[in-house]
Amino acid sequence: MPKEHIAHYDLNALSESVKASGRGEVLILTPMAKFLPEYWQNLNKLTYPHNLISLGFIVPRTAEGDQALKQLEQAVKTAQSKPHKFKKITILRQDTESLGSQLEKDRHALAAQKERRSMMALARNSLLFTTIAPATTWVLWLDADIVETPTSLLEDMIMHDKPVLSCNVYQRYTENGEPAIRPYDFNNWVESEEGLRIASEMADDEIIVEGYSEIATYRALMAHFYNADENPSTLMELDGVGGGAVLVNADVHRDGAMFPSFPFYHLIETEGFAKMAKRLGYEVFGMPHYLVYHHNE
Ligand code: GDP
Ligand code: MN
Repeated sequence: MPKEHIAHYDLNALSESVKASGRGEVLILTPMAKFLPEYWQNLNKLTYPHNLISLGFIVPRTAEGDQALKQLEQAVKTAQSKPHKFKKITILRQDTESLGSQLEKDRHALAAQKERRSMMALARNSLLFTTIAPATTWVLWLDADIVETPTSLLEDMIMHDKPVLSCNVYQRYTENGEPAIRPYDFNNWVESEEGLRIASEMADDEIIVEGYSEIATYRALMAHFYNADENPSTLMELDGVGGGAVLVNADVHRDGAMFPSFPFYHLIETEGFAKMAKRLGYEVFGMPHYLVYHHNE
């Protein structure tokens, strides 16, 4: 048989060469319901060598998704004709259901969470399992509405060499004409006694979603730990993560940690993923003083 029909990968040798160079291959994965030019510009400004970065997108099969796909394809074409090309770009069209309404008030209604988050979990898994490659060292989950990060995002996160590491997602807005910031993502949290008690009294198929007053868990939310005077590279241990900007050592995914679309310890999607990583023996961290910004709708 011609030798090009067999691809050999010595995972040990691959990880040794990454250790030696300190530069692993990164796979940036983004579920994308909307294309925001600010997301794309921010992504293209990342200083990590683009020839070590592959991108993967999954776009829903909705009218909004059609629009996003067109804009994304156009942006990709332009970027890949320039010198600092990304290594590889994969665009998937979702084959599973999406939520009918993407309006913020509908998306964020508590009643919609189980269905919405479980659809998102399927989309994330499908994106992950079709794009992860033998040479992938890191997977960065970056939502399509993260419009601003430090350009050194990858270097700043990889430096910590943690199995799972989540940024603090904030949002810019104006208050009485003055620019201000506020916490956005409440899915980065530390488990509480009350959270465990609520879970212990739930039926098998029930889930807890963080950030809703209807389910008061009293968990410590990383969003509230931000302090502008503290060192941005400070870490805190977490039990749940959101999907805004999360760096995962690819081995954590290869060991089987994915996004449960079903209640896993009464958690789903990114929060369930953190739980699964922990059950596999990995530690999960967040950077409370390291901010990335969510688009303001
Ligand atoms: P929120 O920030 O918690 O309100 O969550 P979003 O609605 O922003 O969703 C998180 C990410 O998934 C964003 O990047 C969205 O563009 C994307 N997204 C939302 N809904 C879908 C969907 O049905 N399919 C896919 N593939 N992506 C989606
Ligand atoms: Mn969002």
